[in-house]
Amino acid sequence: MADSAVTPTRTNFIRQIVQDDLENGRHQRVVTRFPPEPNGYLHIGHAKSIVLNFGIAEDLGGICNLRFDDTNPHKENVEFVESIEADVQWLGYEWGGRVRFASDYFEQLYGFAVELIEKGLAYVCDLSGEETRAYRGTLTEPGRDSPYRDRSIDENLDLFRRMRAGEFPDGTRTLRAKIDMASPNINLRDPVLYRIRHGVIHHQTGSEWCLYPTYDYTHPISDALEGITHSLCTLEFEDHRPLYDWCVANVSVPCRPRQIEFSRLNLEYTVMSKRLLTQLVTEGIVSGWDDPRMPTIAGLRRRGFTPGAVRGFCERIGVTKADNLVEMGILESAIRDELDASAPRAMAVLDPLRVVLTNLPADAPAAVTAKNHPKDDSMGTRAVPLSEELWIDRSDFEETPPKGFKRLVPGGEVRLRNAYVIRCDEVIKDASGDVTELRCSVDVETLGRNPEGRKVKGVIHWVPAETAVNAEVRLYDRLFTVPQPGTSGRDVREDLNPDSLRVIPNAKLEPSLGAAKPGDRFQFEREGYFVADPDSLPERPVLNRTVTLRDTWAKVQGASKG
Ligand code: ATP
Ligand code: MG
Repeated sequence: MADSAVTPTRTNFIRQIVQDDLENGRHQRVVTRFPPEPNGYLHIGHAKSIVLNFGIAEDLGGICNLRFDDTNPHKENVEFVESIEADVQWLGYEWGGRVRFASDYFEQLYGFAVELIEKGLAYVCDLSGEETRAYRGTLTEPGRDSPYRDRSIDENLDLFRRMRAGEFPDGTRTLRAKIDMASPNINLRDPVLYRIRHGVIHHQTGSEWCLYPTYDYTHPISDALEGITHSLCTLEFEDHRPLYDWCVANVSVPCRPRQIEFSRLNLEYTVMSKRLLTQLVTEGIVSGWDDPRMPTIAGLRRRGFTPGAVRGFCERIGVTKADNLVEMGILESAIRDELDASAPRAMAVLDPLRVVLTNLPADAPAAVTAKNHPKDDSMGTRAVPLSEELWIDRSDFEETPPKGFKRLVPGGEVRLRNAYVIRCDEVIKDASGDVTELRCSVDVETLGRNPEGRKVKGVIHWVPAETAVNAEVRLYDRLFTVPQPGTSGRDVREDLNPDSLRVIPNAKLEPSLGAAKPGDRFQFEREGYFVADPDSLPERPVLNRTVTLRDTWAKVQGASKG
C-alpha cells in the first residue's frame, strides 16, 4: 500500500520533457507557475508542486511565476495570500517579477469571452444550476442542448454586457462555451465560463465585479498571457486538458502552454484536503494553521522542519503519474537525517528526579566540558555546571529493574554523561512510597576515565539542579492513529490521535539553553530533536519535539504485526 520505493534522483518525466523541449529548440526558456488558491495555508502536497515548478525553472535557467488563482472570492482572503508568499520564500524560492493574481486578468478574460461570443463559441444560458446539471447528462448518457444554445451573437453580447453591469441576480444566467453536449468528456459539455456573484468583496478587486470567471476558463488563459511553457498540475485535471487546450486555441492569446499532469502527494497519518484542514482549524482541534501537528508548511516550520528537509523530502518521493501513499517515516527521516548532522546536542530532563551527590569533592571542577556534536568538532564545546544536586530522568532509575535494565538501580552504578560514574546508595521516598530523591556517591577517579576493575555500561543524561532552566516541552506525535484517516465513510475526527500533543510543564534543561531563541534546534540526548517555539519567554523557553531519535512507529507497527 505505502510507496516506500521512492527515487532518490532529481530527474523525473516532466523535467525530461522540459529538457527535451529546450534542447530541440521548441522553447528558448522554460516558464512555469505555481497557482495556489488563497483559501488556506500551503501544505506538504503543495510543497511537492512548488519544488517541481520552481525547481525546474531554477535548474534549467527559466522562471517560475507565483500566481494566485483567485476566482472564488468568498473562501479567499489576504491572510492566506500573505502566508502563501511567506511559505514559498521560506522554502527558498523566488518567483519571476511581481506576484500575479488571476484577477489581474479579469478585464482581459472578459474581452476574450466577448471574442468567443463573437466567434459563435459561447452563449448566455438561462438554465438554473440544477437544470444545467440535469441537462449535462452522465458518464453513460450524453447531455442535452440548452434551449438557449442558439441565441444570436448580438443577443449574447447584449446579455453578457448586462450581466457585467449587474442587471441580473445570482444564479439566473451563466456564460457557457459552445462545444459539444454529446462529448464523452463531460468537461466539454458546454462548460460554464462565467457566473454571477453579487455582494462579495474580492480581496484584490473589491466590488468592481459581479461576474466571476470559472477556474477552467481562467487558468489556461492566465497561463498563456504569462507565456507559461509548461503548465504542471495534478492528475485530477487530466480530463480537463481538452478544455484547457480548447480555451487557448480559440482566443487570441500569445502562446499555447502545454499542460502536463502528475500525481498528488498523499501522506500517511495525515490529511491533505483543504476542506478537512480548515475544519481542524475552525473547530479548534488544532491551535491554528501553524499547529506543529498540521501538515502545513507553517506547521512543519513550527515543528522544527528546515526548508532543506522539506525540499529533500519532495525530491526523494519523486514525480510520477502513479497514485501513491507515502509513508510518514520518509518525511520524518528527511528531518532526522538533517538534524543528526546539524543540531547541537544538549541535555534535557523531561521527568525530573532529584539526585544528591553526597561526596562531591571540594576540588571537583565547577563544570564539565561537553561536546556540542559527537562527530563534528567544529561545533565546539560548552560547559555544563556540576553541582551537588542534579536532575536525572525518572525512567533512568528502577527500584526493581526489569531484565536487561542498564541504568541506575539501588546499589548499582551508572555514568553521568560527560561526568562521573555514580553509585546509588540510598533511595528516599515520600509518605505514599513514591521515590523523591536518590543519594549517590561519585567515584572521583572516573572523570574522563574508565572505573578501575569493573565495567559500567549505562550512561544517563542529567542537568544541574540549581542552575537548570525550567521549560515547557511539547511532545508532538502524529495527528491521526491510522494511515488513511477518514476512509471508508468514517469522520476523520474519529481517527484523531488523543496523544498527538503531550505538554510537560516543568522540564529541566541545562543552563546553556536559557539563551535559546525561537527557531533554535537541538538534539536532546536520548530524547529526540527539538526546536524552540515562538511562545518561548525569556526565562521560560518552550520546546517542540520535531521528531524522535528513531522511528518509534515502525517498532509499534512491527510489534503488532507479530
Ligand atoms: P482546492 O481543493 O482548494 O483546489 P488544491 O489542493 O487543489 O485545493 P490549490 O491551491 O489549487 O489547492 O493548489 C495549488 C497547486 O498545488 C495546484 O497546482 C495543485 O495541483 C497543487 N497541489 C495541491 N495539492 C497537492 C498535492 N497533494 N500534491 C501535489 N500537488 C498538489
Ligand atoms: Mg485547486
